[in-house]
Amino acid sequence: MLDTLCNDILNRLNTGILILDKNFNILMWNRFLEVHANKSDKQVVGKSIFAVFPELPKKWFERKLSSVIQLKNQSFCGWEQRHHLFELSHSRPITTDSDFMAQNCTFLPLEVEGEVERICILIEDVTDVCHYQTQLNKVLQELALASRVDGLTQAFNRKHWEECLAAEFSRAQRYKQTLALVMLDLDEFKLLNDTYGHQGGDKVLIDTSKAINEMLRMGDLFGRYGGEEFAVILPNTDLKGAKDVAERIRKTIEGNAIHYQDQMIRVTVSIGVAVMDEADARYESLISHADIALYKAKGAGRNRVCVA
Ligand code: GH3
Ligand code: MG
Ligand code: MG
Repeated sequence: MLDTLCNDILNRLNTGILILDKNFNILMWNRFLEVHANKSDKQVVGKSIFAVFPELPKKWFERKLSSVIQLKNQSFCGWEQRHHLFELSHSRPITTDSDFMAQNCTFLPLEVEGEVERICILIEDVTDVCHYQTQLNKVLQELALASRVDGLTQAFNRKHWEECLAAEFSRAQRYKQTLALVMLDLDEFKLLNDTYGHQGGDKVLIDTSKAINEMLRMGDLFGRYGGEEFAVILPNTDLKGAKDVAERIRKTIEGNAIHYQDQMIRVTVSIGVAVMDEADARYESLISHADIALYKAKGAGRNRVCVA
């Protein structure tokens, strides 16, 4: 009576139950596994688990079960560690990233007179959890990126760029390294907007940012400081190096014809360069120095590089 009741419950559970002997042969499995593996218990009982599920990572599985047997302790393998152990179908109606059920597997030692003679594996279907967690991670990553990047130009936004500058500034101070700052402001941009319209101006901002970004090295940090003002942090760079970078940027922008509708737009840039002074305790003074140099460049006729 109790046996029938237990069997009934086992077969109604929404969890896979699989019992193996010490040689990894299947002693029983429940209806959940019959359905999701599409094999009746008659087809699998007495067979090696590796014959029924050839996809199992054999070495890993043997090691896992050996430790369950020896330590007499239960063990666990979650979907985040391995998406699935057994290739079982899932019954999720909407598409997921995998054809197979995501699983949380628990390995339970079953003792007979103090010795582990059998192992019970509980297989939980966590396809939904896996699906929603993966979606959530994707959205969180997108959000993290959106909070750092300017939507129009894809350069770092002002806030994130300043955080980078603060971090680079203290790193340079700590390790006694050089640090340079390049501030750029597009020339006569108001006039450009008036001539080509705001969308034309936007296209210039997008293309110019792309051109600058492509010229920079891996560790350089490029940000949009304001409307048509950009800034580049150059770690480990001295004044001569920073001037060279600035001059290359100036020349590239001057030579770049920007396609907008059926027109070609040309733009120039004024640039101020500054390097970290040992006497500076705050990164803000580096910005001020580069800014003063930038206004010197504007005053001297634009489309040029000036040094603080
Ligand atoms: P200068 O050579 O002295 O820098 O002259 P300027 O006209 O570039 O100077 P100003 O800073 O006065 O003008 C900047 C203009 O940039 C004004 C503003 O409308 C425009 N601007 C700011 N942000 C954007 C933007 O996102 N898109 C477009 N199209 N224009 C912008
Ligand atoms: Mg400006
Ligand atoms: Mg300007």
